[in-house]
Amino acid sequence: MKTDDLRNIPSVSRLLDSPALQKLVDRIGHHAVVEGVRQRVEALRTRVHQASEAYVPALTELADQIAESIRRETKPTLLPTINATGVLLHTGLGRAPLAASAVEAMRAIASEYASVELDLSSGKRSQRVVAVEPLLQELCGAEAACVVNNNAGATMLALAAVAAGREVIVSRGQLIEIGGNFRLPDVMATSGATLREVGTTNRTHLDDYRRAIHEDTAALLLVHPSNFVVQGFTKSVELRELVSLGRECQLPVIHDIGSGALLDMAEYEFRDEPVATESVRQGADLVLFSGDKLLGGPQCGIAIGRRRWVEQLTQHPMARALRVDKLTLAALAATLRLYRQGDVARREIPLLAMLSTTEDELEVRARQLAERINAWHGAVAAEAVADVSYLGGGSIPAQQMPTWCVDLDAADENVDRLAAGLRVGTPSVVGRVRRGRLLLDLRSIFPRQDDALLLAVKQLDVTIEPSGE
Ligand SMILES: *Cc1c(COP(=O)(O)O)cnc(C)c1O
Repeated sequence: MKTDDLRNIPSVSRLLDSPALQKLVDRIGHHAVVEGVRQRVEALRTRVHQASEAYVPALTELADQIAESIRRETKPTLLPTINATGVLLHTGLGRAPLAASAVEAMRAIASEYASVELDLSSGKRSQRVVAVEPLLQELCGAEAACVVNNNAGATMLALAAVAAGREVIVSRGQLIEIGGNFRLPDVMATSGATLREVGTTNRTHLDDYRRAIHEDTAALLLVHPSNFVVQGFTKSVELRELVSLGRECQLPVIHDIGSGALLDMAEYEFRDEPVATESVRQGADLVLFSGDKLLGGPQCGIAIGRRRWVEQLTQHPMARALRVDKLTLAALAATLRLYRQGDVARREIPLLAMLSTTEDELEVRARQLAERINAWHGAVAAEAVADVSYLGGGSIPAQQMPTWCVDLDAADENVDRLAAGLRVGTPSVVGRVRRGRLLLDLRSIFPRQDDALLLAVKQLDVTIEPSGE
């Protein structure tokens, strides 16, 4: 019986002749399919051999099963998703989406050669930073700029270039962990600079910095604690005060502002968010920030400030290891260009557009979507509900934005399974599970995605039983 079953297993070559697997060969190539079929046939043989009653499907059925299994396994894992979490700068979902002009700028040079390090008028070698430096000078009033892979890289590079083997003074209340293994003390240790902590968790005075300065001090560091707030009996030193102390002692002041807002975020009801321009104006020697947080551009780390210090960064060997590619430069330059006309930036940078969306607009869309979902009488029932969104990405934790969501309910279906169903659907939708409810937050969903969102919700009908059964 066992031998009979084993004999019933079709050969790899017969399976490969089936229409399902032929189609797959056209899509992913002969080698990947042959290998996939071979492994699965082998596994089936082992199962049949071990268990006396293993069921061997007929040729076509087996070929279909194998094709589906290979298809699932070879599906790319990096896919576009609809961000229904309401978290606008979701690190897991790639932070800021790019403006159309930034995408176009990347597209234009992606499949061509480009003047990355070549001055076209002189024909001489140039620095790749010239693609963005004049824009950063103009927009932020800085003398010079340097762009690296991300802000963690900018921080590491700044500390290595300015303070390796020497001490950097930082307030105990600013020894932050951003998440994803960015812990300031570890970054400092890796850079070769020695951390000199001053003050206490809740209070640091200018005199604490002053007393810590000695001949081995290389810099004063101020870090914006972007993902937490300390309330109550607190005192931190203002940038302005630290800059005057730095001048007095001839020490550079490095300001890690984190999110890199170029516009005053008070306009969006976010208070106390440092603005890059303001930090330069107040005299910070180096201002460090991310490109893909509040700036709304590609992932990168930007260091601007006095030429003397920026040049130390650019000339450090680590700068070469952290350098950005032409696509990042193109996207950053295009994004910065939008800031030249403030209102264009507000409209065309997706992050800023999402921040400006009014509660009324979100409510209208939430009610429409809920109505359309309920009109199907499918497995899922929907209701429009008011809630709050967060910016995320390690930005402004205490501040919330009012929002509207579609609250999905599928009778007895477990909410985590419902959320998982949406995540693996086409298109993939990542929602927010909160207090046992699955919410689709419209604050982080582009209006143009509403129809696709409906389609994704409708697909849930296939995976779960209709309610009321
Ligand atoms: C986010 C953040 C960083 C890390 O920036 P990445 O671009 O994610 O590397 C560093 N410092 C502060 C204050 C931040 O908010």
